[in-house]
Amino acid sequence: MDVIVIGGGIGGIATAYQLLAAGHRVCVIERHATVAQGATYGHGGPMLPSPLDVWFGPTFMGTRSANKTGIVFKPGFDTATRDFVKKLALLRDPDAFTAQYSRLKPLVELSRRVIGEIEAAFALDCEQRTGVLHVFRRAREFEQAAPAIELLKRFDVPHRVLTPAECAAAEPSVPEDPPFAGGVLLDAERTANCPLFTKLLKQILEERGVQFRLGREVTSISLEDSRAAVELMPLHGTHQAELIAADAIVVAAGIGTPGLIARVNGKLPLHPLRLHSLTAPIAYEEHAPHITIVDSIKRIAMTRVNQRLRVGGAAVLQSEAKTAKPLGTGLANRVLALLGQGTHDWVPGAAKVSAARAWEGLRLLSPDGLPVVGATGHARLFVNAAHGPAGWGLACGSAKVVADLVSGLTPDIPADTLAALRIDRF
Ligand SMILES: Cc1cc2nc3c(=O)[nH]c(=O)nc-3n(C[C@H](O)[C@H](O)[C@H](O)COP(=O)(O)OP(=O)(O)OC[C@H]3O[C@@H](n4cnc5c(N)ncnc54)[C@H](O)[C@@H]3O)c2cc1C
Repeated sequence: MDVIVIGGGIGGIATAYQLLAAGHRVCVIERHATVAQGATYGHGGPMLPSPLDVWFGPTFMGTRSANKTGIVFKPGFDTATRDFVKKLALLRDPDAFTAQYSRLKPLVELSRRVIGEIEAAFALDCEQRTGVLHVFRRAREFEQAAPAIELLKRFDVPHRVLTPAECAAAEPSVPEDPPFAGGVLLDAERTANCPLFTKLLKQILEERGVQFRLGREVTSISLEDSRAAVELMPLHGTHQAELIAADAIVVAAGIGTPGLIARVNGKLPLHPLRLHSLTAPIAYEEHAPHITIVDSIKRIAMTRVNQRLRVGGAAVLQSEAKTAKPLGTGLANRVLALLGQGTHDWVPGAAKVSAARAWEGLRLLSPDGLPVVGATGHARLFVNAAHGPAGWGLACGSAKVVADLVSGLTPDIPADTLAALRIDRF
């Protein structure tokens, strides 16, 4: 089949890879001049979400104070934003959290397998590292993580619950003073450079005949029983819109996804989230971490990437209208201060934060914390989106699910996981 993939982030490129592997002819359309320029560019490092990493559950947004949660929540008078957060808060209940993560888990494992296969097939070097240490400042917060730790045990995820002294022994850059409650070391969890992986995979796809239409924006999708097509915005200086037809279309357009599929599936209850990263040069080698440190409550990840420290997190949750506008200077300074403070708290002296390069990107978050993956209301339209702040690896497993569905095969995940990812679940 001829398949069009809209979006050149990790979601689109991983989908193109799986479609090609399944024997389809693939064309990727990306509005930027190259791939990995959207949310994919700003990743914090961790590849796959353990129960401690997902952006829902007992440890997520327990209060409204940004200094405690790491998330700036500014709903203003917007009822939709408040309702969205209320729905997400239902998953703070330990049983609801356990059930929801259990639905996600098969996608995590499929993603792990798929990434491993790609790395092995092409010997990709994308700054991979192993070991993630989640740290907790207060005893109460550590206790709140009990359902997540229980899930680690239940799913046999290699991990060790550590005292502060054991955390410092595992990663000497973490100071024991000021005191903290402890940590959880995930020995086998990995981090890697998502934009680099995406670019390397794009080269491989190009060499194998995938067509790339870069610098082209899809303005609309048209769907018929027998054919599907996308319309591209006219090139600069021309008035001629271009139409490309195919047998199927996969939308992996990140924040652009809801607008493109609205005609088929109506308005989806997905909410945009602004996320930030800092990339700072290593200041003192002896203070730089060798494994990734995550402030587990604030969801701030600190990953060493060669001679740099990558710090990701500090989300801003506002109304859709406000998220569409640039962040004001006051709020921008506040989120950068959150990332700077996280670094100072957990790996002091590791990075020259004053010389850091800041970046921000928009992600779509769903009110039940899971991505939107699979078929849509039209048989020729598929979607791989809304991975929230955990799309680096998940987008790769989701790509396999989508490619199977496009090919008329049953994806290799349980039916309840597939149902929990469906677009019509809301
Ligand atoms: C600061 C930050 C830190 C993060 N940290 C992590 C992390 O540590 N671990 C993790 O797993 N995840 C992390 N994430 C999330 C992860 O980066 C994303 O989930 C993932 O990159 C999503 O990829 P995507 O392909 O769905 O979206 P994107 O990368 O946004 O790609 C979508 C692409 O579609 C294109 N597009 C949109 N509309 C159109 C159109 N109409 N026509 C043509 N092209 C279009 C866009 O230009 C874009 O390139 C982080 C995100 C941010 C912003």
